[in-house]
Amino acid sequence: MHNKNLFLKNDSKIAIIGGGPAGSFFAHFAFRYATEAGIHVSITIFDKKSFCQKGPRGCNMCAGVISENLFNELEEEGIHIPPFCIQRKIEEYCLQSQDESVLLHHPVPGHIPKILTVFRGNGPLLSSHQGNVSFDDFLLNHVRKQGIEVVFEVVKGLKLPSKRGDPVEVIYGEGDVKKVFDADLVVGAFGVNTGIMESVANMDFGYKPPKTVRTCQCEIMLGNEYIEKTFGNNVFVFELGKRDLKFASITLKTDYITVSLVGRQDLTRNNLMDFLNHPVVRRLMPKEWVMPKGFCMCISKIPVTHAKHPFTDRFVILGDASISRAYKSGIESAFHMAKLSAYTAFKNGVSERAFMNGYFKPAKKLLARDNVYGIIMLKINDYITSQRRLANAHIKYIKYGKDRKVADQMNEVLWNMLSGNTSYKKIFYKFVNNPRLVCKMLPISMSAWGRQKMDDMKAWRETY
Ligand SMILES: Cc1cc2nc3c(=O)[nH]c(=O)nc-3n(C[C@H](O)[C@H](O)[C@H](O)COP(=O)(O)OP(=O)(O)OC[C@H]3O[C@@H](n4cnc5c(N)ncnc54)[C@H](O)[C@@H]3O)c2cc1C
Repeated sequence: MHNKNLFLKNDSKIAIIGGGPAGSFFAHFAFRYATEAGIHVSITIFDKKSFCQKGPRGCNMCAGVISENLFNELEEEGIHIPPFCIQRKIEEYCLQSQDESVLLHHPVPGHIPKILTVFRGNGPLLSSHQGNVSFDDFLLNHVRKQGIEVVFEVVKGLKLPSKRGDPVEVIYGEGDVKKVFDADLVVGAFGVNTGIMESVANMDFGYKPPKTVRTCQCEIMLGNEYIEKTFGNNVFVFELGKRDLKFASITLKTDYITVSLVGRQDLTRNNLMDFLNHPVVRRLMPKEWVMPKGFCMCISKIPVTHAKHPFTDRFVILGDASISRAYKSGIESAFHMAKLSAYTAFKNGVSERAFMNGYFKPAKKLLARDNVYGIIMLKINDYITSQRRLANAHIKYIKYGKDRKVADQMNEVLWNMLSGNTSYKKIFYKFVNNPRLVCKMLPISMSAWGRQKMDDMKAWRETY
């Protein structure tokens, strides 16, 4: 039903819960669309964290890779990442199996990728740098300059109005204090590492949070010189045949490396230690290296499905708590969802129906459907990486294959998968619609698979 109250107008108040990328990007676009509409709205971001702090307390816990697409989109929006935030410029991806490794390069010859790494908070716990290098703080400061207010207090709950069209009450404050903020629009950009997600799920408007798994990450100080000598400017992605791991990478910062592990199920510190002790990983670390006693480590959640019904009248949820690209480029997904939902709020209103048609349906088309292709591709990749000989055969072909065109096409598929440069759907069809690539890889894969099964049988006979 159309309700003329459910539109933003002069002096409307917007409350954004969460000052991570989704919250800051929403504020950025809301400011833009309000200016275009010639109305003044007051926008307040609530966040319980200050990104000026070092370690997990000031950090939204991620590997910190800014994809090339996002970099370009930020530039177009006039959001220029300052040099003090940039930890490293990434040139290539190194795919490392148990026995082989290959450097994957950008598919366009001569193109210099614009992939950056950043710290989300103010760097690792115990790091000695001066100043604030946080990417999330930079984004928050960007929107502050547009007049957006930031309140560093926790949001404890929300009260939806009993009469349609009335404002939503945001209850916030530290300790026992309970303050109320009446909002004409509430934006839930609270991510998946927060209790408020569950309380919103209990509000009976149909929101079901995404399913998540616990990942494990740590920052290790190795020094710039050692990092450049050993890793170059490349993100390392590991295919070590470990069944508990879905994705393992080392991302380079200036003086630190970030180890990120995503599992099939919840991971713990033991998985991290196990990974760091793998001979292939040990070979990349300095001789005699031991894990320091105090180091920066976090267990954070990653969404593995998308949310159901992340909207109602005057309330929209975005970012990780809603819908994002499976296992890749979460910050870029937050950017797109913030733009879509802000556009909807200013052009079509803040009713449930407006968010359904203007935000969630297009978001599902863009990301959820694409994730289906992603999951198929990741499952195939999971199988390949779990079979030592198969993983080696693929890497060897990219490196030494006689048919360089096929080798380049394989490089392109993997580059796009790892860098998140192209939609999963495009990667999938580019692969299956390429008879030359499929015809070449099928016999190589079958032969490697056969040899792997022989190895498995031999190992089984030796055991019993
Ligand atoms: C291991 C791992 C590696 C990743 N690597 C990358 C990568 O390299 N590149 C990439 O693009 N993405 C990566 N991601 C994904 C990325 O971290 C997320 O997609 C992104 O942070 C989502 O942004 P968001 O704003 O939705 O949520 P968040 O970044 O989680 O921000 C939510 C904010 O809400 C605040 N908040 C929560 N509850 C409350 C409350 N009750 N009151 C006030 N404030 C509150 C929090 O303090 C936080 O600041 C990775 C994720 C994981 C787990």
